[in-house]
Amino acid sequence: VAVNAFTGAELDRADDARRRDPAWVADQARHPSARAVVAGSSGVRVENGRLARVPLPEAARTGVAEPVLLGLDAEGPLFAVDDGPRTDAPAPLVGAGGGRGEPPPATSGRLGLREAGAALPQADGGLAAYAAGIMNWHRRHRFCANCGAPTEHGEGGLVRSCPECGVEHHPRTDPVVIMLVTDGDRVLLGRQASWPARRYSALAGFVGPGESLEEAVSREVAEEAGVVIGPPVYASSQPWPFPSSLMLGFTARWAAGEPRARDAELEDVGWFSRGQVVAAARHDVDGWEVGRGDAPNAELLLPPKLAIARRLLDGWLRDD
Ligand SMILES: [Zn+2]
Repeated sequence: VAVNAFTGAELDRADDARRRDPAWVADQARHPSARAVVAGSSGVRVENGRLARVPLPEAARTGVAEPVLLGLDAEGPLFAVDDGPRTDAPAPLVGAGGGRGEPPPATSGRLGLREAGAALPQADGGLAAYAAGIMNWHRRHRFCANCGAPTEHGEGGLVRSCPECGVEHHPRTDPVVIMLVTDGDRVLLGRQASWPARRYSALAGFVGPGESLEEAVSREVAEEAGVVIGPPVYASSQPWPFPSSLMLGFTARWAAGEPRARDAELEDVGWFSRGQVVAAARHDVDGWEVGRGDAPNAELLLPPKLAIARRLLDGWLRDD
């Protein structure tokens, strides 16, 4: 079974009592095998087609914030270093570099996070997502949400604590439901006006406070398409650190209602046949983000292969 991009980091996150021991954390930073992955607003550093692991002292010299201990891999402690730009003003998010339709990268240099998810080995893509996600959180949580005082980095970077009011802040993940609604040989897809022409994807939306995932799926489909569905069925999940989402993938069967775009979020929504989706899958260039100008004759462009929406579509094509 195919796994989602941005999953599969191979390391012990040491997310337990060890991190709460400052002496243990300091030992990891001094360890002769301590290395760091390097990421900043221009993307993640890659070397020979892999995520670069740089000796920690060398990486730390380029850092604009304290290194974050990601965990332990087979060689020893592994950190993440944010090499900028500086975070004392609102800054672009880590890994935001790169973009749609850029040429495939050289095997060494910088890769935007989306490109990294498509181009790097599975485990390195997972590691890049972890590093970018945690560093994005640090960038946006320098002050206490409770009292406004500057917060301090703790537990090797998996917590920020407030010296004024004593509250501990933990890395945040925002749940987003994404769902493929089907009715036999047709599938419901929508598009946002900002997407490349003819690109359609599964419907999606943030889970609200006091709302179950199943309720969020049903509500989003009703709001975005005016369609009633049967019970949602969980499929798989994918970290989406742009800046801090977790995509929760579902499938659901159509029950009632003719789809039409109802809110400002979607420009168009409608049914596509199995044949249209199969034809569109043939236009893909690989795992790359399909940019404007690719496949000029296609009537439908699918989401890129690194996106969970595409996994949901592939699963539907495989099922029957
Ligand atoms: Zn506080």
